[in-house]
Amino acid sequence: MSVHTDQSAAAVTVLGLGPMGRALATAFLDAGLRTAVWNRTPGRDGDLVARGAIAAASAEEAVAAAPLTVVCVVNYDASDAVLRQDAVTAALKGRTVVNLSADTPARARDTAGWAERHGVRYLDGAIMTPTPTIGTDDAVFLYSGPGGLYREHQGVLAALGGSHTHLGEDAGRAAAYDIALLDIFWTSMAGYAHALAVARAEGVTGAELAPFAQGIAAILPPLFTEFAADTDAGTYSGELNPITSAASTMAHVVHASEAHGIDASVMRVIEGQARRVIARGHGTDGFTRVAEVITVR
Ligand code: NDP
Repeated sequence: MSVHTDQSAAAVTVLGLGPMGRALATAFLDAGLRTAVWNRTPGRDGDLVARGAIAAASAEEAVAAAPLTVVCVVNYDASDAVLRQDAVTAALKGRTVVNLSADTPARARDTAGWAERHGVRYLDGAIMTPTPTIGTDDAVFLYSGPGGLYREHQGVLAALGGSHTHLGEDAGRAAAYDIALLDIFWTSMAGYAHALAVARAEGVTGAELAPFAQGIAAILPPLFTEFAADTDAGTYSGELNPITSAASTMAHVVHASEAHGIDASVMRVIEGQARRVIARGHGTDGFTRVAEVITVR
């Protein structure tokens, strides 16, 4: 089925029907919004169309169907490949794009510059929670770019559920939060995968370890708040856990892992950072002093 290039055909368009794009389109449909959809590879819209979505034959047709287009593709090479086609750019003139694809702050700012040069109204954004949260109270969305534009589309975006936060006018700000938060997530996941391997080598099953792993995770939220204040103030208090003591426990992880033939390179890097802090005379400081020694410029 094809859409008319009539602005009233849909309230919102979703470009990109991977797992996240499909979740976004589903939430818009569930909220009763007329939703146009398009994906580079055809055939991903069947169930969405069955639920009332308008299947656009091209990206150009899709963006022309609604005043607001939400893009959710793998990265900004992909969103550029879609949005920067001449016909699509022309159809977007005067309309709004919210780019919920993930990439770096620099790419977000570059896209905002492109949008401004072409008369496209642009908000950048980031999704901080997995697909099952979309349309529920647990979803978390971040935005940056013109505040007035955000307020204009806030009502439609609210259909995606959860919390929506506008972080400021700098288009790169949502991606900056995204990068920092992904940093926490992936290094934590790497630590957990490694811990499971070490525990298994010691005859401890994942199920046995998991409740205690939850205990470690529960320690983190208050530490995040405390360390953030330390880092902002540059105080790095190590009164209760000096980095000399922390480095010693890191060495235990390295030795125990390598004794089982398990790659300990991540922990070796962390221990090395802690040792650099100590070598610079900050052995009584807390672990987050590391944030200073890893900054090379
Ligand atoms: P992917 O990151 O795998 O993205 C798949 C989508 O990108 C498909 O629609 C695919 O189209 C499209 N795509 C890839 N390359 C191109 C290209 N060159 N031109 C046009 N379209 C292209 O899956 P998700 O849907 O899960 O993720 C989308 C975005 O959402 C990503 O940036 C991801 O980081 C972010 N995100 C995802 C979460 C999740 O839980 N899945 C959580 C939070 C954020 P095609 O089908 O044609 O290949």
